[in-house]
Amino acid sequence: MSDSDIQVALVKLCEQILADDELTSEEVYDLGQWLNDHPEARTAWPGDVLFPLLVQVYEDQKLTKTDLKRVTSKVRVVLRKAPALLARAHQQARKDVAAVAAAETNTSVARLPIVPISMDVTSFTNPAVHYHVELQTLSCSCLDWTKRRSRLPKHHIGRCCKHVMATYRRVAPPNGWPDWIGAFFAEGWTPDASVEWDVMVIGKGKALVSSLSSRGWADVYAKTSEGWERFGYNSNEDRWSRGHAPRHAKVIAGFVHSVRPSVFKRILRWLGA
Ligand SMILES: [Zn+2]
Repeated sequence: MSDSDIQVALVKLCEQILADDELTSEEVYDLGQWLNDHPEARTAWPGDVLFPLLVQVYEDQKLTKTDLKRVTSKVRVVLRKAPALLARAHQQARKDVAAVAAAETNTSVARLPIVPISMDVTSFTNPAVHYHVELQTLSCSCLDWTKRRSRLPKHHIGRCCKHVMATYRRVAPPNGWPDWIGAFFAEGWTPDASVEWDVMVIGKGKALVSSLSSRGWADVYAKTSEGWERFGYNSNEDRWSRGHAPRHAKVIAGFVHSVRPSVFKRILRWLGA
């Protein structure tokens, strides 16, 4: 068990023995026995406060009513502080799951990592509203997702509404999301649901490139000497946004034209839908 797992296990034991709001001498004995069996739990909270107290109360070999009260009130204090520890442990568990998903992600294809995590995200404009996000299927219960993104293929980048994006950022593994995926989430630009995406491999490098928007712009995520960045290329004017171009700018600009939205989407766009 990790340090965090052992802390959570002890908190759960405290919850269990105090479920009826009082401790019996058998329950205090069980708590002491558990701490005897798990020496590693005595150096971290809440073991580091419970164990010394149990040593004190058992010093004279008997457990008086006063001892019982002291242990009960200490366990109550532990349970009042426990939610913060449980939330941290939960968040750590999510990051561990995300780290496995990041390691299994193939960044040579334009697909976002498949992460078996779901959580509720608070609306950015109304704190009373929450949306349910699932990273396994890249889905969200918000209007933008249900109206514009729900029919895109599984793991299509366009399924990423701002809540899906925020969730990926929140559970980012300790070493971050790999390659262009890290920049895509960090920059936080919600993708246009009507464009396609492709990954271009240039030597040892890669770039994530979108098809052209109706106004002739393509989004490009590519690496510079500073790290991964987002770039904008305008095909009508053959120029990079703010004059800022990635390495291999010409090759990438040529590649932009090969990324095409599906015929279905082109017809929808032509119809103005
Ligand atoms: Zn959403």
